[in-house]
Amino acid sequence: MSNSIALENQFTAQNYRPLPVVLSCGEGVYLWDEAGKRYLDMMSAYSAVSFGHSHPRLVAALTRQAGRLAIASRAFHTDQLGPFLKRLCELTGQDKALPMNTGAEAVETALKAARKWGYKVKAIPDGHAEIIVCADNFAGRTTTIVGFSSEAQYRDGFGPFAPGFRLVAFADAAALERAITPNTAAFIVEPIQGEAGIIVPPKGYLAECARICRACNVLFIADEVQTGLGRTGKLLACEHDGVKPDGLILAKALGGGLLPVSAFLAKHEVMDVFTPGDHGSTFGGNPLGAAVGLEALKVLVEENLTARAAELGDYLLGELRAIVSPLIKEVRGKGLLIGLEVQPGKARELCERLLQRGILSKDTHGAVLRFAPPLIITRQQIDWAVGELRASLADMEPTRRRAIA
Ligand code: PLP
Repeated sequence: MSNSIALENQFTAQNYRPLPVVLSCGEGVYLWDEAGKRYLDMMSAYSAVSFGHSHPRLVAALTRQAGRLAIASRAFHTDQLGPFLKRLCELTGQDKALPMNTGAEAVETALKAARKWGYKVKAIPDGHAEIIVCADNFAGRTTTIVGFSSEAQYRDGFGPFAPGFRLVAFADAAALERAITPNTAAFIVEPIQGEAGIIVPPKGYLAECARICRACNVLFIADEVQTGLGRTGKLLACEHDGVKPDGLILAKALGGGLLPVSAFLAKHEVMDVFTPGDHGSTFGGNPLGAAVGLEALKVLVEENLTARAAELGDYLLGELRAIVSPLIKEVRGKGLLIGLEVQPGKARELCERLLQRGILSKDTHGAVLRFAPPLIITRQQIDWAVGELRASLADMEPTRRRAIA
């Protein structure tokens, strides 16, 4: 066993089961292991590396800013935060942004904003605000967030949990409507459920949910941590349904694949419920993250990566759907966020076979392989990856295995 793996095994909690590869450097769509073997990254750190590894413009922004001023805390203003948040609000059509670091922190920020808006603006009786979430949601790992998960393992051993959440079925607008009460402050939804296995709701679902929320004076909040910033072929996945959310959660790619940078964005009416001392984070909004975040937004627009995700996503989906294999149950997704569902229990083996062939992917729930490469991937690289996938699937087919044996 590699020394690096042995050290991790000895000195980290066993809260992950990584694939057996030790990565040591990356550039663009490629990663290299300790021995110098090259891999095509088809996972992008769960969609965080949309711009590719070590994008030269982002590395330049990072090093430039690191040499000037990295962290100041929000006790003071900096010359980096304003321009970053201005561009972020312009692009997303929101009025204001509250910067944090990780996705979970931005979700927590959204929960606090929604509850406070519920009490201060909607006049919900104190302590009674409810937030509606969807079954099979994934929004991070804090105790509040796992408390509203429907996944038994995420909750097991971590209670007691915060009250005030209701679960409804995903992709079922009527279920949302039935669950709303006068005390409902917000509905929080992933436009495409990522961790659940790249579950794409039917067209019109988000628009119908937004209509219901508006009619009931409930905030429609989109968790676009995984789907946002071009990944699905639109800047925000909500745009596929023509929806502008009342609140928006962004993270992952916002940090350019270099740093944890996240934000909760909203209209004035929601964001203005926060007063000094209500909420904060030592590192949230730091000038280093702001400089990288602003450059990431510029790269996204100037390199036309959203349109690229749409075009190459369609291409990859088409190529995957053309594969004939008894192991494939379904191929689904939008843009470059694609799930390949295989027969139960086969996903991990397929990931390991792809790894041997130089492709990095990761299964979710043992059944779905995630294909979310950097948005800079080329058609030729996709063709190569699909060829290796075909070969891996063929190697796993029972008849073929028997023939080899
Ligand atoms: N929300 C969604 C939709 C996610 O997919 C994730 C992470 O995968 C999160 C929130 C949590 O982000 P983080 O892992 O940065 O806390």
